[in-house]
Amino acid sequence: MAEKINFQADVSKMLNIVVNSLYSEKQIFLRELISNASDACDKLKYLALTNPGIAKQSGLFKIKITPDAAANTLVVSDNGIGMNKDDLINHLGTIAKSGTADFVKNASDNGSALELIGQFGVGFYAAFMVADKVEIVTRRAGEDQAWKWVSDGVEGFEITPAERAANGTDIKLFLKSDAKDYVDTIYLRQIIRTYSDHIEYPIVLDLGKAGEETVNTASALWTRQKAEITKDQYKEFYHHISHNFDEPWLTLHFKAEGNIEYTGLLYIPSSAPYDLFQPDRNNSLKLYVNKVFISDKIDELMPHYLRFVKGVVDSADLQLNISREMLQHSLLIEKIKHGTVSRLLKELKKRTKKYDDYMTFWQNFGIVLKEGIYEDFANREEIAGLSYFASTADETKLTTLDEYVSRAKEGQKAVYYITGDDVKVLRNNPQLEAFREKGIEVLLLTDPIDEFWPQVLPNYKGFAIKHITQAEADMGWSRNEAKADEGSLKKLTDLMTELFKTEVGKVTTTEKLTKSPVSLTVENGQMSLHLERLMRTHQQQTAFASTRILEVNPYHPLIIKLADMTADESNRAKVEEVARLLLDEAKIAEGEAVSDPSFFAEKLSSYILQAI
Ligand code: ADP
Ligand code: MG
Repeated sequence: MAEKINFQADVSKMLNIVVNSLYSEKQIFLRELISNASDACDKLKYLALTNPGIAKQSGLFKIKITPDAAANTLVVSDNGIGMNKDDLINHLGTIAKSGTADFVKNASDNGSALELIGQFGVGFYAAFMVADKVEIVTRRAGEDQAWKWVSDGVEGFEITPAERAANGTDIKLFLKSDAKDYVDTIYLRQIIRTYSDHIEYPIVLDLGKAGEETVNTASALWTRQKAEITKDQYKEFYHHISHNFDEPWLTLHFKAEGNIEYTGLLYIPSSAPYDLFQPDRNNSLKLYVNKVFISDKIDELMPHYLRFVKGVVDSADLQLNISREMLQHSLLIEKIKHGTVSRLLKELKKRTKKYDDYMTFWQNFGIVLKEGIYEDFANREEIAGLSYFASTADETKLTTLDEYVSRAKEGQKAVYYITGDDVKVLRNNPQLEAFREKGIEVLLLTDPIDEFWPQVLPNYKGFAIKHITQAEADMGWSRNEAKADEGSLKKLTDLMTELFKTEVGKVTTTEKLTKSPVSLTVENGQMSLHLERLMRTHQQQTAFASTRILEVNPYHPLIIKLADMTADESNRAKVEEVARLLLDEAKIAEGEAVSDPSFFAEKLSSYILQAI
């Protein structure tokens, strides 16, 4: 008896997108179906490790493609794990991946964002680009009952009990009238070679009376010699394992030999994935043991800061029959990770030689890589060396710590940096005035992670990494210019301290400012104003808010004048008003809002009027 089940709303929406506008190249449906067939064989191979009876044909896995020109159908069969009724309902009627579901919910029905959907692996549903009906007959390994699933890809599907001699799955596509090409064996052979050559199981084309023909190379790509693999084959494999459709920015294929042997085939995408910052995003390296797929959820295989790396690691030295849980924590995995990370970092180093090319990578993943300075104690200096920063030295290009160090002034012992929300605003921050005047470079850091890594990297090549608040003591700056009178200056700062006691913790004088009368900063070593703002936007508590300091420039004519005015008590109201405006000015320069916008606007207009 047929059971009718509706697709989830999201699936219907996705089908609509997939069918109408997703891929210009419809032939990739075949890649998706073959990819699923290959996954199904992988899964059974893995199960058979602990349950040898379950797959009698183990070792003879195969994927068969059967076109029927007369009936206008195409069947993709495999003898992999198969599906039972629950599998069919759960896997082919829903969108399992939460990221995909979210995406589909938010996607409009057209627009270039749709190309992104490829990243989520629409997979099986791609069949409906070329078929107006799909019929699946499948039987799960180890179970007796087979099932038939039929759908027109619109509202839902029907499930009925069926017959199948052994475990595996047949996916039969009733081709649309404009998709008749897919019964043409020449065309099919070409598509399979293009997209699926790297599949390690034989893909066999059923030629009817002419027999069967294996179309692909059928050996796991990473086990082949580098020289025998073309750039396109590397690329297709990357598409297969990553669900991305871009060019790989980096392809790294290597064999590690020594006390532990393993092969790696790793990729870095040329565009950033949508979920790079989703908290639960982890690496998606696939771990194989001697060509048997074990898991793509071994988080210990890659550090979190390299979560954008895709690919395969295969080692015959790992034990096949130990559980995934045990693998997670095995020493061998730790060693593989160690070796793989160091290869990746070396490769990145090489790529820094071409600035523009490296920037493609850096714009996508630099912000993530920098987490490594914080996370990866052993490699922190190396990762810092791979990092690029905006700097006062060059407005057009980012710079490295090495370049900074090479430009350091005689006697300069530190790399100075400032943090803020925006590079443009930072460039004009009054706190940089003396640095600019003395020709001392300052790095302009704007990523949240920039608040953290300098704390764990106290030195780089003998240079201390210091926030500019720590610079004044280093430099012993002082100037031979007219300065406000000490006594009145003290009166002024005392008055300001009292006036601003709810807003700033301290009012001090500084040698750091050359153009601005005042500037805001924090106590040396405390959380920066930038970090405070970040915490606030993320609704984090700021119980540990830093002590704000209003720095006053004793050489500035405005400050000299204002200090003089404090001598006469009758000026008090005016001094307070100007002081308020100065605090507002400091806030604006720091990228913050003034305390009372209407007061500020009104006073500004009135002073402008006096001036003109
Ligand atoms: P993905 O392959 O990314 O998981 P798909 O849409 O391609 O997404 O497939 C959805 C799920 O359907 C698979 O994860 C798998 O559980 C199941 N499936 C699809 N094709 C097969 C098959 N040939 N054999 C067994 N299971 C399959
Ligand atoms: Mg798939």
